[in-house]
Amino acid sequence: MEKTDFMIIGAGAVGLAAALSLSERFAESSVIVAERHSSFGQETSSRNSEVIHAGLYYPNDSLKARLCVRGRDLLYEFLKKYGLPHDRLGKLVVAADRDEAILLEKLLATARGNGVTDAALITAAEVAALEPEVASAAALLSSSTGIFDTHAYMKRLESLGGERGIIYAYGCEVLSVEREGAGYRVILKDADGADLEIGAGVVVNCAGLSSDKAAEAAGIDLDAADYRLHLSKGEYFRVHGLPRGLIKRLVYPVPGAVSLGVHIVLDLNGGFKLGPNAVWADRIEYSVDPAHGDEMFAAAHRYLPRLKRTALEPDMAGIRAKLQKPGEEFRDFVVRDEGDRGLPGFIDCIGIESPGLTSSLAIGEYVAGLV
Ligand SMILES: Cc1cc2nc3c(=O)[nH]c(=O)nc-3n(C[C@H](O)[C@H](O)[C@H](O)COP(=O)(O)OP(=O)(O)OC[C@H]3O[C@@H](n4cnc5c(N)ncnc54)[C@H](O)[C@@H]3O)c2cc1C
Repeated sequence: MEKTDFMIIGAGAVGLAAALSLSERFAESSVIVAERHSSFGQETSSRNSEVIHAGLYYPNDSLKARLCVRGRDLLYEFLKKYGLPHDRLGKLVVAADRDEAILLEKLLATARGNGVTDAALITAAEVAALEPEVASAAALLSSSTGIFDTHAYMKRLESLGGERGIIYAYGCEVLSVEREGAGYRVILKDADGADLEIGAGVVVNCAGLSSDKAAEAAGIDLDAADYRLHLSKGEYFRVHGLPRGLIKRLVYPVPGAVSLGVHIVLDLNGGFKLGPNAVWADRIEYSVDPAHGDEMFAAAHRYLPRLKRTALEPDMAGIRAKLQKPGEEFRDFVVRDEGDRGLPGFIDCIGIESPGLTSSLAIGEYVAGLV
């Protein structure tokens, strides 16, 4: 049986970053990344807003807050170092009325508690001066929010890993993980449907939307651990007919319980989309329901009064891997060694929804610290 020191399940942004971090921290070790698709980043890491979050929203001291703020700094440094496309363009969280303006004050306090030092409340007149198309009662301006090219980022993580000898086993799906000696026997199915067995000292579960199933495949009782994922689809609509550069910053409403709300998603070419909404889903499926355009329009029209319903066209969708059940409060990322469940050296990354991309390098660093 082939053997490796580290086996990573999943080549999304988190698995790629964890693999690189482990290979850097444990220089002589061998690392294999098993990915069921034929390339990296075919799931959630390619279906999102591509925003580098500042760390405004998450409860103080939560893993989401800590890994977002650390990950944001690491990510900007990484993108700069390797000359990868990104833009620290900033963002406005806009309040539609006085009640929402009070929520912005709470948001600012949370942001400060998370160590975000460059967020500030600004008046409606200041918003109008920055973004004449945007209507608001007040806003929170976040200067360290940005956008980046997630494909270029993942490609660089993969090539750096390749230079360090990491093996990317594409087309290989992990079926089960069994305890064997001091490590694990990982059973996979390769692209031809043949079974493979690999011995691994440490296994890291970065399986995104299937990370609960990967934990179960290692013998974890999902209900007892409260690891069952709930899928929430986020649909995007492209906006046509507006001149490029008309809006210069990301614009968000005050956040809701399940998502950050329908916002203006700018790409690096100045084009823009609206989204994502939040629709509970029972399977992984990426169609966009054109009928949801009405709701999307209503949400965005509050802060973009000149927007026309006819300008919206269905674009793409992504799916959030949420530990939070419908109606439940905040749930944090799970990044932990499952030693207390009888699986030492089996590290779970579960519920890595937003800000998972922003946090990916920090999650990698954290995983390496758990070994
Ligand atoms: C609509 C939306 C918008 C978002 N916007 C942002 C944003 O702007 N900024 C931000 O920071 N975050 C954002 N996020 C969150 C971010 O996209 C995710 O947190 C991040 O991409 C998760 O990365 P991952 O590597 O954990 O998962 P994935 O990218 O899904 O990767 C998991 C990989 O595991 C593989 N896999 C699963 N099971 C197996 C198996 N058994 N064997 C082998 N391979 C397996 C899958 O094929 C997949 O490639 C958004 C998410 C959504 C849905």
